[in-house]
Amino acid sequence: MKRITLKVGSGVLTENNAVAKQRMLNLVSFIVKLQSLYDVILVSSGAVSSGYTALKLDRKKHISKKVLAAVGQPILMSNYKALFDIYDVDTSQVLMTEEDFDSAAHIEIFRQIIDSQIENNILPIVNENDITTISEQVFGDNDQLSAHVAHHSGSDVLVILSDIDGYYDKNPNEHDDAVMYKLVSSIPQAELEKPDTSTHEFATGGIVTKLKAAQFMLDQGREMFLCNGYDLSSAKEYLIDGQHGKGTLFSCANN
Ligand code: ADP
Repeated sequence: MKRITLKVGSGVLTENNAVAKQRMLNLVSFIVKLQSLYDVILVSSGAVSSGYTALKLDRKKHISKKVLAAVGQPILMSNYKALFDIYDVDTSQVLMTEEDFDSAAHIEIFRQIIDSQIENNILPIVNENDITTISEQVFGDNDQLSAHVAHHSGSDVLVILSDIDGYYDKNPNEHDDAVMYKLVSSIPQAELEKPDTSTHEFATGGIVTKLKAAQFMLDQGREMFLCNGYDLSSAKEYLIDGQHGKGTLFSCANN
């Protein structure tokens, strides 16, 4: 079976300081459908924003953000568990740092853990473990973490479910005439060096970290598909119907 890693951002999972339960349910039922076609790994943001639903600490303060992540991670996972239970799908929590990918031995352990979970019909739900770590140990955004997870788990494609329909020639939230790229096979270095453009309170990346993730996947000869996570229709089209409507595919396949 083909393997995919799916990454979902905080924006999709939370709304007005609460967990966006309907969107989460849509995501969960989509993942359950995907499991009949693919081995699936989920990388999910949302610990800090989930923590904020219970505790109003200033997330801009370094320690407060860690406390929010510590409070929020079990809230996030219990929401997933309640929804996946509807479909009888068991999940696991895999918390990772950049250091977990720093040697062949670490990578081998990661691969075996993921393989074993999938063989046993468990859906791995991965998030960055930024609770007791220092900045040198973490990716800082789940886009790049998800690219490492996708590559080292042997995923054919990384799908990033975002607040935007795809990658445009300029920021579509600022320019009405922005045009979406359908297929991208190389990314100019200057685009990878631009500042963070994230739109949500709890987002950490913006388009730049998604492009860095895409570049990493292209360097590994793998693909990344960036599409909307609020409305899953383009993800469904691409992954279930095998049709590419909206959404940007990063791939060297046609080169
Ligand atoms: P997520 O919560 O999915 O991680 P982010 O807010 O981090 O989303 O990143 C997506 C945002 O990046 C978009 O909403 C958009 O405002 C911004 N952006 C800036 N430049 C571009 C571009 N060229 N194409 C698409 N999105 C862009």
